[in-house]
Amino acid sequence: MRKILIVGSGQSGLQLALTLQQHGYDITMMSARTAEEIRGGRVMSTQCMFDKALSIERSHGLNLWDDVAPAMTHQGLSLSVERGERALNWLGEWPGPAQSIDQRVKMATWLELFEQRGGRVVIHGVTTADLNALAGMYDLTVVAAGKGELVQLFDRDDERSVHTRPARALSVSYVDRVPKRPERPEGSVDVWVNIVAGVGENINIPGYTVTGECEIFYLSGIPGGPFDAFSDRPGPEEQWQRHLRLLETYLPWEYERYRDAKLTDARGTLVGGYTPMVRRPVGELPSGHIVLGMADVVVANDPVTGQGANNACRCAQYYLEGILARGNEPFDREWMQQTFEAYWTHAQWVTKFTNTMLDPPEHVQAVLGVAQTNQAVADRFAGGFNDPSDLADWFFEPEKCQQYLASVS
Ligand SMILES: Cc1cc2nc3c(=O)[nH]c(=O)nc-3n(C[C@H](O)[C@H](O)[C@H](O)COP(=O)(O)OP(=O)(O)OC[C@H]3O[C@@H](n4cnc5c(N)ncnc54)[C@H](O)[C@@H]3O)c2cc1C
Repeated sequence: MRKILIVGSGQSGLQLALTLQQHGYDITMMSARTAEEIRGGRVMSTQCMFDKALSIERSHGLNLWDDVAPAMTHQGLSLSVERGERALNWLGEWPGPAQSIDQRVKMATWLELFEQRGGRVVIHGVTTADLNALAGMYDLTVVAAGKGELVQLFDRDDERSVHTRPARALSVSYVDRVPKRPERPEGSVDVWVNIVAGVGENINIPGYTVTGECEIFYLSGIPGGPFDAFSDRPGPEEQWQRHLRLLETYLPWEYERYRDAKLTDARGTLVGGYTPMVRRPVGELPSGHIVLGMADVVVANDPVTGQGANNACRCAQYYLEGILARGNEPFDREWMQQTFEAYWTHAQWVTKFTNTMLDPPEHVQAVLGVAQTNQAVADRFAGGFNDPSDLADWFFEPEKCQQYLASVS
């Protein structure tokens, strides 16, 4: 039986561990935290996952929250150019519903499931020195440790990386007691993206958290601007009050919905920011052993397009397929590189989409404008979140974009 070590119990590491376990592999999972610590810890993300990624989880029997999580069918977009004025306001329909399960709930449950099914879990914050000693004991070591210290084992890929500093300052509050959107029919559940030109984005996602259904409020601020107001890391209540004050000024239609909302729990807030980066997939340890980087370790994008957990899910699927296809052959450097490149066929479009939306060129701004009156354009743009590879055919280049818009006008 092939022995595989996976470091990091997040979306990618746990999904790979659980799916390899189903195929009879001997998996050891090293996690910095116990399931209980994950469940009782701080929120980590907004983790909106779209239909394509959810269908991968479902194919492995891993989507355990379909009965309780809000099923989001549409993605709305509002744009304000003048402070507080809503210039664009439209929504596109997704091919299948999206879902957001608080990673505290999901990862804690998946970790317990892996253990209940006989998986070995070692609770330990792994260092490079640990890996140096451990990697030789396994047929393959996968580093799925997100944006933690271990990324330093993997060199930046300068050709595939655009950013040298964080593109946005991030802050998140999980709240409840939020009324439905007044303009939407009763029962509709939608993600809403509010773009404030020159300031940043506010994204609102109905989700499922430790206390049940919730609204996830996410502010993404252009560095140095008004939404970049949390670097002093205020306490949870003060953070939420600042979110409300910013809403009142910049997005009054959202303020009306959120004004009476309350934090779901004392750990339902998050503040941060990181530099988006693509890294080389093979890390070499001082002992000469090599390890394979996974998901955020190797492709970390800004969360503005909500792709990271979706990407982590896809990465876990590509790596699963690569490991199964390898049979008993060695997991050597060439295999690692090829396995990553298979994943990059998808991840490249995620990276391109995200970087484009962080600084939308004129033709993309035109798309957002046309979507106001053309439902086909609104739906196709929304569909790009579900499957960014579809954008390759029409979205990124001005000529292709014009051709597409002409074809649907
Ligand atoms: C504010 C914000 C909003 C986001 N919104 C979305 C969204 O709406 N949709 C979406 O798809 N994505 C979103 N993302 C991104 C998404 O959360 C991540 O891309 C995704 O979780 C990455 O999965 P992963 O498996 O690579 O890493 P992670 O999920 O980060 O898991 C890594 C795990 O490794 C553990 N670990 C780290 N170092 C060590 C170590 N040395 N030893 C042992 N364990 C270690 C960590 O504790 C963690 O459990 C968002 C991110 C942020 C910050």
